[in-house]
Amino acid sequence: MRPARALIDLDALRHNYRLARERHGGRAFAVVKANAYGHGALACAQALAGEADGYAVAFLDEALALRADGIEAPILLLEGVFDVAELMEAADHKLWLAVHHPAQVEMIEKTPLSAPLRVWIKVNSGMNRAGFLPAAVRMVWKRLVVGGKVKDCGFMTHFARADEPDAEATAEQIRVFDAATRSLPGARSLANSGAILAWPDSHRDWARPGIMLYGADPLPGEDHGLLPVMTLASNVVAVRELAAGDPLGYGARFIAPRQTRVGLVAMGYADGYPRAAPDRVPVAVDGRIAPLIGRVSMDMLTVDLTDLPDAGIGSAVELWGKQISVNGIAQSAGTISYELLCNVKRVSFAWEGGKG
Ligand SMILES: *Cc1c(COP(=O)(O)O)cnc(C)c1O
Repeated sequence: MRPARALIDLDALRHNYRLARERHGGRAFAVVKANAYGHGALACAQALAGEADGYAVAFLDEALALRADGIEAPILLLEGVFDVAELMEAADHKLWLAVHHPAQVEMIEKTPLSAPLRVWIKVNSGMNRAGFLPAAVRMVWKRLVVGGKVKDCGFMTHFARADEPDAEATAEQIRVFDAATRSLPGARSLANSGAILAWPDSHRDWARPGIMLYGADPLPGEDHGLLPVMTLASNVVAVRELAAGDPLGYGARFIAPRQTRVGLVAMGYADGYPRAAPDRVPVAVDGRIAPLIGRVSMDMLTVDLTDLPDAGIGSAVELWGKQISVNGIAQSAGTISYELLCNVKRVSFAWEGGKG
């Protein structure tokens, strides 16, 4: 069998969830959208069952998959619903809805529902992507609550720059949110991972940790005690010697500067390893660092084993995980850990530390 695999450490996931919840205080939605950032939504949700106060996903289908798997805790749809059929189904399954747009308010007013809704009004406090302007929030709240379709209404907002501890923007967003919701009853939810770690003023009733659950610190360069959850692993499957001056791989990006022992690794950009990774990005081979050399191809990549004479066919390779930080790879490739983790596919998955 091709050795490319993702090992998911569910004990580490639970550790990170507890850390997020304690650091924030109150309750915490475990954000498991996008297949739990590539880690397997069902396995991750089950690993947190009985512990997570609730879950958050982007849209209805992601929530229905959790319900079908027996998850009974609250599930928040971060984008709310897209049409009336979705709204009715969400009500049937007792899903919690973000409401961020006037069309969603109208849908709720006009649709007969099987049960009263629990909604979270999303306030645009400065990100300007989704949510109601501060001046509209009170009127939206009135329409939803007075109409009788909504039994419980909370307020949420999302930060554009929570991962920048020195940016004034987040403090300003908190001020705008507080002013927009002043004296309105209901729970508050502001903090994503960056805000849980860097913005204590944003800590209210419910946190929404995502990336930190998976052990990638949103504030690179800091250590908050998170444990990496995914190890992206493979093996060396072939070895060859290059003479000085020999080109390697597509575009001959790497030219051997000396006699070079090249290890071929079964992992490529079709598996989610970034093609943009430059030469010398670290790869762990049998626990030691071997630099990536040559362009990452669809199914394979190549590493320099010249200084690791004991490494060879069958050697264990870690692309990221406990030894190699996914944040470091992301930075080298000009992206963020979120994108790398979400893009892992085609490899075989194994979950460790589940509850039976
Ligand atoms: C994805 C998402 C989160 C989680 O963000 P992280 O930065 O991964 O912690 C929280 N809130 C909303 C609205 C989101 O869309």
